Amino acid sequence: MTKITIIGSGFGGLSAVREVRKRDKKCEITLISPRADFIYSPSLIWIPTGLRTGKQITVPLQKFFKRMKVEHVAAEVSGLKDCGRMVETSAGEIANDGLIIASGSRFLKKLPGFEHALTLCEGVKAAEQIKARLEAMDGGSIAFGFSGNPNDPLAVRGGPMFELMFGVETMLRRHKKRQNFDLKFFSPAPKPGIRLGEKAYNGLLKKIGQKGIEVASLGVKLERFEADKVVTQEGEFTADLILFMPGMTGPGWLDNSELPRSKGGMIEADETTRVKGFEKVYVVGDSGNYANAPDWGPKQAHMADLQAAAAAANLLGELKGKASKETFKWELICIVDTLDTGIMVFRNEKRKTLLPATKLMHWSKRAFEWNYMRQYR
Ligand SMILES: Cc1cc2nc3c(=O)[nH]c(=O)nc-3n(C[C@H](O)[C@H](O)[C@H](O)COP(=O)(O)OP(=O)(O)OC[C@H]3O[C@@H](n4cnc5c(N)ncnc54)[C@H](O)[C@@H]3O)c2cc1C
Repeated sequence: MTKITIIGSGFGGLSAVREVRKRDKKCEITLISPRADFIYSPSLIWIPTGLRTGKQITVPLQKFFKRMKVEHVAAEVSGLKDCGRMVETSAGEIANDGLIIASGSRFLKKLPGFEHALTLCEGVKAAEQIKARLEAMDGGSIAFGFSGNPNDPLAVRGGPMFELMFGVETMLRRHKKRQNFDLKFFSPAPKPGIRLGEKAYNGLLKKIGQKGIEVASLGVKLERFEADKVVTQEGEFTADLILFMPGMTGPGWLDNSELPRSKGGMIEADETTRVKGFEKVYVVGDSGNYANAPDWGPKQAHMADLQAAAAAANLLGELKGKASKETFKWELICIVDTLDTGIMVFRNEKRKTLLPATKLMHWSKRAFEWNYMRQYR
């Protein structure tokens, strides 16, 4: 029987399971990830402000794996050999006829003093640490910032930082503590968030102004963090709490593989999600650098889902001797949440849409979360 291996149980990996199973009821699917659970990462933004707990955004996957007839191997991938046919893991070697890689990205933590900052996107534990730090503060300054990967303009995650900043501001107002806090925004990018489109970027800057958040530094290279300050090449500003999202690069285990990598450290794939130069090896989601990406191409869960559909169709086709031809469309879609409202941003090759902040969009984001997690329960 055909053996398909999938690496990762995040958005891309689980969508790949659904898409493979939809097309092939019989093949063996082995999924390798450290734990049999799914973290709905877009809702990490709501842990520091108390709207969600880690448990509420974590779905145990045993039932889903049973329904999909997936064998889960709880292990970490450490490398790849035999042109992708053998995956090396902490639980031993796993052979495959076809491979889909969806092991996400990791953060670049080269900035001196990085240990003084907390990074929301690292997961539930980091989000809970931010919550604890916020609860312990009666006043002071909080700096929110993000940067990118100098070798890959697409390897940046800024949206959640705007959401965290707006959410914390709303929470402080609700708790009648806003007047005790200075909130500051910083980024080495001259126009952080511009990939959402000019209109959306201007809308975000306007929101920052409306919420009384100081733009402390824009377009100036960061030098280091200290316990109570952010130091840039042109000056410094105080911060009792630094919340920072660095740029992203590819998974560390790639060092022990022959897979082609982009300058930014992601796996090089063509427009069908097939890894360049490798047979029956595909990549979906944040781990990949795709040949057809526009200069605003997002690293988003929605893209991972679209790429997984293409990867599944192409891999199953290739296993039957057909050439890979399914591509996927590029779409940026997100609701930038403020804890009580949401700003809807949409972008594709043809149009850009921005809907102003409304309560309806906040509730739409919550409804989408419930519906998305439901399919894995
Ligand atoms: C705070 C936050 C908010 C976000 N908001 C949105 C949003 O509103 N909308 C949106 O579309 N996107 C959003 N994103 C982005 C979205 O979460 C990512 O683009 C998406 O998770 C990428 O999917 P992926 O499958 O590539 O990686 P992931 O979902 O990160 O999954 C990676 C998987 O690989 C596993 N893994 C990692 N290393 C190994 C290894 N060595 N061996 C085995 N398994 C491994 C991990 O455990 C995990 O299961 C947000 C992200 C964050 C962090």
